[in-house]
Amino acid sequence: MVLTPPLPPLPPLPSSSSSSSSSSSSSPPPSTSASSAPMGDEAKSSGVDPKLFLDSLSTQSLLEELNRRVECGKKAPRRYILIGPPGSGKGTHAPRLAYEQCGLCHLSTGDILRNVVASGSDLGKKLKATMDAGGLVDDPTMIEVVKTGISNPKCTRGFILDGFPRTVAQAEKLDLMLGESKTKLDGVINFKVDDKLLVDRIVGRRVHPASGRSYHVKFAPPKVEGKDDITGEPLVHRSDDTAEALNKRLGKFHAETQPVINYYGTKGILNNINGDAPLAKVWEQVAAATAAKK
Ligand code: AMP
Repeated sequence: MVLTPPLPPLPPLPSSSSSSSSSSSSSPPPSTSASSAPMGDEAKSSGVDPKLFLDSLSTQSLLEELNRRVECGKKAPRRYILIGPPGSGKGTHAPRLAYEQCGLCHLSTGDILRNVVASGSDLGKKLKATMDAGGLVDDPTMIEVVKTGISNPKCTRGFILDGFPRTVAQAEKLDLMLGESKTKLDGVINFKVDDKLLVDRIVGRRVHPASGRSYHVKFAPPKVEGKDDITGEPLVHRSDDTAEALNKRLGKFHAETQPVINYYGTKGILNNINGDAPLAKVWEQVAAATAAKK
């Protein structure tokens, strides 16, 4: 069985209105409630002619971006794990981390599985039943998914695993895989959020399946109700984003994934961050945790 993960686009060009003076501090488009104009590959997916888009950028911005890419080419690959309960913000911050760290692959195992479900295959039907009930997909399937993902040549700059490992068996297998390729993890970021705050976050969450962008009906609404800010495509309410499934998912998190957090704690690569803070504050913690490993 081969489950092919979606690969991220090249890092987007910064907006021409960017005020950053350093090439490495350019910000990517936000992944939640994106409010900026379409950029780079997103311009393509929104039907904007990329050539026209590039013409609209200042020479300064283009030079900054070129510089950024040259500097990125000199950096060693980076490999991170984002871990935390459902709705803790992993998927929100992963795209920015991927960009800031020079184009890491963002491998969200949940997104990969949802793609298989969307295909309507027999495997997809089986996965859907497990996912909708808030259960965990079996370890061999998940290991296969991640093995395929991280060995993709497009992930040579490194990767961010979002949603994996969720069991100690998955974590141990990942260590073996990394050992075989003589690579290692640079850090594990644990998004800590109290269970009782997650119900509101999850039940009001709406996502744009193609990009993974997520919104919240109350806390981060799209510009037009029910539509993605960038493409205008419909947002969906994930079938497992219900209070009932969340309860089960949280149960699994505490029983199966908390031991994974402890596992990385003993290896000295765990960074605990407070995920119950304003978005910018959470990002500062992610940036600090990953900058320390540079
Ligand atoms: P997520 O989008 O990360 O919340 O994942 C959605 C669902 O996909 C989970 O509730 C699980 O059913 C399944 N899933 C994703 N990643 C894993 C994993 N590493 N191990 C087992 N099941 C997973």
